Amino acid sequence: DTVKFSVKDLDLYYGNFQALKKINMEIYKGKITAFIGPSGCGKSTFLKTINRMNDLIESVKITGSITMDGVDIYKDMDAIQLRTRVGMVFQQPNPFPMSIYDNVAYGPRIHGIKKKSVLDEIVERSLKQAAIWEEVKDKLKKSALAVSGGQQQRICIARTLAIEPEVILMDEPTSALDPISTLKIEDLATELKQQYSIIIVTHNMQQAGRISDKTAFFLTGEVVEYGDTEQIFNKP
Ligand code: ADP
Ligand code: ADP
Repeated sequence: DTVKFSVKDLDLYYGNFQALKKINMEIYKGKITAFIGPSGCGKSTFLKTINRMNDLIESVKITGSITMDGVDIYKDMDAIQLRTRVGMVFQQPNPFPMSIYDNVAYGPRIHGIKKKSVLDEIVERSLKQAAIWEEVKDKLKKSALAVSGGQQQRICIARTLAIEPEVILMDEPTSALDPISTLKIEDLATELKQQYSIIIVTHNMQQAGRISDKTAFFLTGEVVEYGDTEQIFNKP
């Protein structure tokens, strides 16, 4: 197994409140890693330390280190650059109030791609990878808000894929979705994991058991168990 992220003695405080306590773990490439545990135990906070979303909150203090491919992401990497390599999908599908096409083309355009034929290719490839192309190819100019929640979430995944990240962070990506859409996202995650390492926060133990290779249990800011999902779930 190839290590993608190595986390050493990570502590995180919101003001005086310690939300993460001495996290030590290695997260592997080409796998789905699930973070599970009760509400408020720090899963989402930890996920956001991996792409430095916490930089945006002023009260946050972090000690310890996280490296990605051996490079310290807080000391030796620019946060903006990091976020193009580590994409994120949220609990609530959050397409921008613009067309499906413009949602997916958004990231590439920010990176300076202007040529229509190139953008067309990226949009088609990303929507295909997100298993939503067939459903939306005839309405790319329609608002991304005009489709179902499950479709919106796959459009959001396509928007993330369009920036060609190495890692995709998913923060409870299916908790706002119906069971069929949930299974579609799970299949999709399984298909994408080889090319894009995936870390998924979920409340749902069964979901972690179904799709993840590694599982980390969080409890009040600590990782209390971490290992192969099969072994953890087969335990008596
Ligand atoms: P989980 O994702 O496991 O539900 P969170 O990471 O969202 O947990 O929250 C962990 C703890 O940190 C909770 O007690 C939460 O209230 C607190 N917390 C999260 N974000 C902030 C913030 N911006 N400021 C202060 N406390 C926060
Ligand atoms: P999520 O589980 O996706 O993090 P939450 O509902 O826990 O969503 O948090 C929504 C927002 O509120 C986040 O930006 C989080 O950092 C912030 N937040 C959560 N708990 C607290 C808290 N105790 N004090 C201040 N901000 C908080």
